[in-house]
This record gives sequence, C-alpha cells and structure tokens, in this order.
Amino acid sequence: MTDDIDPTQERKEARRAALVVRGVVQGVGFRPFIYRLATEEGLAGFIGNDTDGVTIEIEGPQERVAAFVARLRAEQPPLARIDSVAERELALVGETGFRIVASEVLGRVSTGIPADAATCPDCLRELLDPNDRRYRYPFLNCTNCGPRFTITRRIPYDRPQTSMAKFHMCSECQREYDDPLNRRFHAQPNACWVCGPQVWLVGADGAKIASDDAVTACIDRLAAGQIMAIKGIGGFHLSVDATNQAAVMRLRERKHRYGKPLAVMVRDLVAAQAACLLTAEEEALLTTPARPIVLAARREGCDIAEGVAPGIPWLGVYLPYAPLQHLLFADARVRALVMTSANLSEEPIAIDNEEALMRLGGIADAFLMHDREILQRCDDSVAAVVDGAPQLVRRARGFVPLGVPLPFDAPSLLAVGGHLKNVFALARGRFAYQSQHLGDLENLTGLEFFRESLDHLTRTFEIEPKTVVHDLHPGYLSTEWAKEWAQERGLPLIAVQHHHAHTAGCMAEHGLEGPVIGLALDGTGYGTDGRIWGGEVLIARLEGFKRFAHLDYVPMPGGEAAIKEPWRMAFAALRTAGFDLESAASLAGPTAEEARVLDRMMERGVNAPLTSSLGRLFDAVAGVVLKRRVVDYEAQAAIELEGIAVDEPDDEPGYPMKFLGGNWTAREPMRISADPLWHELAEDLRTGVSKPRIAAQFHAGVAAGFVQAVVMARAATGISQVALSGGCMHNRRLARLLRVKLEAVGFEVFQHVQVSPGDGGLSYGQVAVAAAMLNQSKSAGKLD
Ligand SMILES: [Zn+2]
Ligand SMILES: [Zn+2]
Repeated sequence: MTDDIDPTQERKEARRAALVVRGVVQGVGFRPFIYRLATEEGLAGFIGNDTDGVTIEIEGPQERVAAFVARLRAEQPPLARIDSVAERELALVGETGFRIVASEVLGRVSTGIPADAATCPDCLRELLDPNDRRYRYPFLNCTNCGPRFTITRRIPYDRPQTSMAKFHMCSECQREYDDPLNRRFHAQPNACWVCGPQVWLVGADGAKIASDDAVTACIDRLAAGQIMAIKGIGGFHLSVDATNQAAVMRLRERKHRYGKPLAVMVRDLVAAQAACLLTAEEEALLTTPARPIVLAARREGCDIAEGVAPGIPWLGVYLPYAPLQHLLFADARVRALVMTSANLSEEPIAIDNEEALMRLGGIADAFLMHDREILQRCDDSVAAVVDGAPQLVRRARGFVPLGVPLPFDAPSLLAVGGHLKNVFALARGRFAYQSQHLGDLENLTGLEFFRESLDHLTRTFEIEPKTVVHDLHPGYLSTEWAKEWAQERGLPLIAVQHHHAHTAGCMAEHGLEGPVIGLALDGTGYGTDGRIWGGEVLIARLEGFKRFAHLDYVPMPGGEAAIKEPWRMAFAALRTAGFDLESAASLAGPTAEEARVLDRMMERGVNAPLTSSLGRLFDAVAGVVLKRRVVDYEAQAAIELEGIAVDEPDDEPGYPMKFLGGNWTAREPMRISADPLWHELAEDLRTGVSKPRIAAQFHAGVAAGFVQAVVMARAATGISQVALSGGCMHNRRLARLLRVKLEAVGFEVFQHVQVSPGDGGLSYGQVAVAAAMLNQSKSAGKLD
C-alpha cells in the first residue's frame, strides 16, 4: 500500500474555515507566525487583527487545515496567550496565496496593549554579536520582546501612538518592519543605531558628561562604588554594586531607607544560583518574559553585601530584561547590581529625565539617561514560590495590562482598591484589568499617579465605568476619591468589606461562586462593626458573607503608632492575656512610664481601637521574641519572625489557641483567643527555648488554631472548600502550614495565582463582588 494521494481526491476534500482567535494575540508577532504556518502548510487565505483578537480564513486540503489548527495552538509565539479558537465552515473561494490584511479591514482594534517583555534570545544574540548591525545597541527589540505598555499613549497599539513616534525608521529597519517573514514585522518599537533612541551620561548637576561610550562610563562609576540612576523600561532604577557593602549603605542613607530589602539584579541564572538556593519553580519564575523580582533563599557565604537584605534569609533577585541591562552585565566587572525603584520611600517611581534630575539629584552620583520616553510608570513585579506554586507579591511590569479572567460577564466597573499598595481595576466582559502597583495612597503624589494611570487605562481599554466600587473604610483616600468621582458623573457606588473582597478575589480566580469558607488573614481592614479586622473566618459567596469566627479583639494602644511600634502591640496582647503589669512590661520592653500610659489608654478605651488582625498578632510576638521596638517598613516584624524560623521543622505541635462563644447565624461570631499561646510562649522564653523554635511554634499554633475554626465552620455549614487570602499569605511558612493541615482533614484549598493575596489584589476581589451583586439584581429583576 502506498499513501499516494490522488490530486483530484485532495481537491474534493478541500475546505475553507474561519477561525476567530481570542486572547493575547496582538502586538506579539501572531500575524507573521500565522503567515509562516499557512505558507508551510501550503494553505491560502488571510489573517487580520479585529476588535477582540484576530480573524483567520484558511483554505486548502482538509488534513492540512487540521494540521494548521493543531500547530496554531502548539507552536504559538512566546508572548501570545490563546484563550479560545472559534471555528466556522465557509464556502470555498478558490483563493491562492496567504495575505496579512490591514487592521481597518476587519474593524476597529481594541484589545489593548501587550505587557512589556524581556529581551528574547534572538535579540540577545544580536546584541552581543560584533558582526550584527545592532551590536551593543541598547534598544534593540522584536515582536517577541521589548517594551509595550510603558511606551504606549493610546490604542491602537501602533508606532504613532507610542513614544517611538518621533523616531523615523531607517530604510533597513523599515524593510524588516514591512516583511511578514521577518522577526521585526510590525515590531512597533523597532530601532537601530542609525534611527533609534540613544543613551548618554549626566552628572548630578544636570550637565552632560562627555564619553565615547556612556554604558562603559556608567560601569566605570559603578565599579568605583558610585550610585547611578539608570533609566529603564518602567522608570529609573537606583543602582550600586551589590557586592560592595559601603556603596549599599551609602545608597540606604541617601534614600532614607534603612531596613527594607533592596532588589538585586544578577547576570544570568547561573549567577542567581550562586546567590540563592533556587527551586525549579523559582528558576522558571526568574526566566519568564515578565522577569519579576523573585524572593528566594539566600545562599550562605554568597558575595551579596549584608546590607542588601539585613536580618532576613532571603534575597529579592532578578535577571536583566532590557538590552541596556544586558550590556551592563556583559562587562566582567559587573556581577550583581542593586536595582531599586528610583523614588523616596513609597513615592511613585521617577520616569522623566528632568523629573529624575530634580528628585534624585541628592541621591545619585550620575545618571544614565535615554530619549525613549516612558509614558507609563511601572515598577518591577515581585513574585515568590509559595508552597510550590508561583504567587505575585506585586503585579506590575510584565503583567500589566494583561486582563485577569472573571468567571462571568461583568458590567463596566471601576474598583479603586484599598489604601496601601494600591492597585485599581477596570472590568468589562470576562476580564478585569488591574493597574500597575501604584504604591500607598497617602498623599497627593500617590493620588496623582492614580489619576494618571486611570486616565491611561480607561483610554486604552475604552472602558467607561458605570459603577464605582470602593472599600468599606470611610477614611481611605481611595474611598473619598471614589465618592467624589462617582458623584461628578452621577454613578452608583458599591462598598465592599475588605476581607470579603480578598476572599471573593480568590474565589473568582478559581471560578467558585460559593459558598466557601474564606480564611482572610492580614494586617488591617475595616469591619462592618467599625473595628479593625484581619483574622477572619468567613462564610462567603461572591455577593455576600457572614462572619463565622475571628481572632479575639485586642486593643491597639496609640492606633497607627501601634503598627509602627510592635512593643505596643506586644504589651497590649500580654495584658489582654492576663499578664500583670510588671511581667507584661518586662516581656514587651516599654519603660515603666510607657507601660502605665498604655494601660490607662486601654482601660479607658482612648486611642486604643480594637483589632482582630493577625498581622498585629505577628507584630506583638515579634515585639516579645525579637525585641523589635520600631519597624522600618510594613510587615517587617512578621517577615523577620518567618525568617528566623526558616530552618526549623514543620511538624511542631504549635502553641494552643482557645475558642470563645460563637453563634454565627445570630451574628455572634466565635472568637479565637491567643491567650493560652502567650502563656506557653512566655514560659518557653523563660526556660531558654531557642527563638527560631519559638517562632516555629508560633506559626504552627496560628495555623492549627485557624484550621480548627475552619473545621468547626464545616461542621456548621457542610462547606469543604476553603479560599486562602490576605497579606499574611505572603508568609510562606504560614501558607504552607495552612494548606497542609487543611488538606490533611479533607478540605479543598484554593490560593491566589494571578493576583496578589495582599492589598494589591483587593480591587480584583472588589470587581468580583460588585459584578456578582449587579448580575444578581439584574436576574432578580427579570423574575419580577
Ligand atoms: Zn527580540
Ligand atoms: Zn534603523
């Protein structure tokens, strides 16, 4: 038998199909990819961008068309993400050849802009090839890599709408840009030495520093221990040699940033392995096109300076993602660089050359600048592997503005997020589009960045919000802003409780409508009783929740001051647990006078709001165990407590918690009291048990206490799905213990994947709650 195909037979079996592909398929080299595929399979037809993705018409022998469809899914370009392919039969046209048609033919394009992507291997090879015309060109890119979101003013994503508009392509670049078989076909930021952006060096005084090669001159200065401000993709970085302790300390002093860990960029994966003990999952995360900063265990004896991450056993490490950064590391003198967002404390990152000079003049010794304008500020993303699964701590460059799927259609919404680590979200249809990390919304600078980004994203996605969603906290700047903005436009408002939003976000990521048991553990969130929640066991649906149990209330003497000074929380927790004034003071460390003042505050309930926050319990324990009086950054106490326990085994029985009251259907949630935990902890301290072991026992006790509460919730409701959320889920030990213990007693456990479990993910949860409420009232309306 032979497989010879009779040509007439083949002709008879020809077909023509229309394929509508949805997902991230524009601006990522999808059309040239399809062109190549169709040509290789000998098929006729065309491809073009349409409103929501791409439309392909393909004609030829049946089995060739089938092969084409299979390869389309299997071989898609690195930056593409296919969400769906809808296939429809068409009548044969008898066309020959395959074409790429202009966008306009198929209607207006509005799928927005892809995320920024790290330099691809092909471009990297050219960058370092002395025979290539782009040898050492700091801005080379192609359809598989390069800046996108940060250089785009508005849609459609075409060169005139980007900050590349002012650079006129030379004939060689233009030829690449026009050739469907070229890697640079329609690569909007395409450029070269002849026609594209350039770099130069500027002194702290703003005067240009003459040099043959600005990059080498920058390296000379880094090697000499200087602080450089380097313009990148989403903003300026402040950079010093990360192996030079004196330089690192000088940067900290000038930046007024003393404790908070600094991110370190290293040459490649091998260098990352030398600095950190990496798991396979962490290596995968490090090398994704988004190139996030990855929190990983620091390798003992590695050459990264102590001052980079004082007091904790991890490093935030990442790999170069822009050609300019690769050029820095191409020099043997550069092994590891601190690359931290160029700002003061929580201010937005600097992006403009003039702005950088003004704001960083007192910090940087010199500036490496360029003339490709950054149109959207975008910090580096931060990720960690928690319990074997990647988790985003900060979602920004490389991820924004990709949509996060919703389990159902949402009306057009704006959800403004929370207060700290603010991120807002716009929703329409099946997606929520989260903004980049905007930092703390505490002042006008923060609010300005919020407005700027909102303006950009509403334009980008052409979403006109019909409802505005905000946190229940009346005092948040985001809440005030939302009310004002909605009023001006006559839009309705929906307020969502903080921990309900956390839980709903986790549910929506997994397509759960509930009810589920929501375990929402974090630092601060305004409760329906006006108290500060944060250790919550909820029975939740997307559109509503009941509070089943919570950590028992403890006063926060001094209010906000208690967050900055863990000894206050320690003293309050010990007094609540029944310790006398003297022993509480000796364990928590206040002076006798401070102890008396705090006691009076708590007795009279003056400036001592009640909290059920697990974050504050971590602070209190760190105050006692680590004797930390003041924190330099949010969650520092908890991070250090997790840090000292890192080598302790997981199988500790844990300090005990006890359960008080509880009639949740009558709105009297059960209270989880840490009083017995404090007595055993104090006894262990007295008898000289090691601090790492005490920290491990504390983590284990907290996990066991909440798991027990969740078991009781299951007994009361029959629900066996648990959604884990809240900023405490960044604590990898706690997250792991919770999952392991919950699964051991038969629960199905869900954790965040695409959005942060912390307040950076809040707006996504707000969208889920509001959309579910609106959809429900709509369908209820239909029943009437
Ligand atoms: Zn490339
Ligand atoms: Zn050129």
